[in-house]
Amino acid sequence: LSMEMDEKNESRILVFVRLRPMSKKEKEVGSRCCVKIVNKKDVYLTEFGNENDYLRLKRLKGRHFTFDASFPDSSAQCEVYTTTTAELVEAVLQGRNGSVFCYGATGAGKTYTMLGTIDNPGVMVLAIKDLFAKIRQRSFDGNHVVHLSYLEVYNETVRDLLSPGRPLVLREDKQGIAAAGLTQYRAYSTDEVMALLQRGNQNRTTEPTRANETSSRSHAILQVVVEYRVKDASMNVINRVGKLSLIDLAGSERALATDQRTLRSLEGANINRSLLALSSCINALVEHKKHIPYRNSKLTQLLKDSLGGACNTVMIANISPSNVSFGETQNTLHWADRAK
Ligand code: ADP
Ligand code: MG
Repeated sequence: LSMEMDEKNESRILVFVRLRPMSKKEKEVGSRCCVKIVNKKDVYLTEFGNENDYLRLKRLKGRHFTFDASFPDSSAQCEVYTTTTAELVEAVLQGRNGSVFCYGATGAGKTYTMLGTIDNPGVMVLAIKDLFAKIRQRSFDGNHVVHLSYLEVYNETVRDLLSPGRPLVLREDKQGIAAAGLTQYRAYSTDEVMALLQRGNQNRTTEPTRANETSSRSHAILQVVVEYRVKDASMNVINRVGKLSLIDLAGSERALATDQRTLRSLEGANINRSLLALSSCINALVEHKKHIPYRNSKLTQLLKDSLGGACNTVMIANISPSNVSFGETQNTLHWADRAK
């Protein structure tokens, strides 16, 4: 994949799909599985789950999709990490930026994929673990410095998840747009990271009515910045910086519901401006437009230097197997299909 990207000298967006297992609750109410993943690539939406007539489904509209890879519900966290993100960690150590997004409806498995659990850590934790392993392999002089920041965009307000408090203001400096005063946590090893990220995740905004659940409108962004020195051909020491952004997006169901509404009601409610702006940027990138509308939201401003251009961008679309979520799943797959 990377060779292909280098040849074209421009990155494209890699799009993956991950199906989560049926939950206990879904089983109890008699949900049926309506998604089949074949050959780790093709995704079929079926009516009753027991359908094997793939040729027929291929002829139907919106029932067959194909992605760079599709993960069935049996896929392990490390398999998802290795296939989607390992190359981006390597790129960060070459001084390049990259970003990985989890997109999908609430309950589809975004936070599980990104953060995971203590027993089954997700992409964020596995990426940092891999990063430290790679740094240890290549340097014996402690040359690499790793900083982590973890923030939330909620209703176009930016908050520091490592040090909750006042909303942060975005400022433009010579390095780009950054949240002023955002905690930059110097990380020395993987050990402390899982606890740090779990705590950060607990600081995400919750809806007053569901005090223990993260709001489906909250975007969480982990940024991992690696700085190191190398010598160039004429033996001058130069500083290199690579940045990896890992994003657990807000639930996509609201964006889809608002798609049909007027722009005014959308702006009034300020619902998911960031998610819609991200879609616009991705569509503009996919269509190779000259102008990418980064300025339209906090999320896209923050990720301006990590999306498009020489950056690697990865999208993981999370879906539920249950027939109850058929509509959401189909919407997510359509969205992911357009990001290719
Ligand atoms: P989201 O963040 O998209 O709202 P979650 O990641 O919180 O969804 O997932 C919803 C529930 O499903 C959680 O209880 C989570 O642990 C579980 N879950 C999601 N994906 C998986 C998976 N691949 N394997 C096992 N459990 C999963
Ligand atoms: Mg979540």
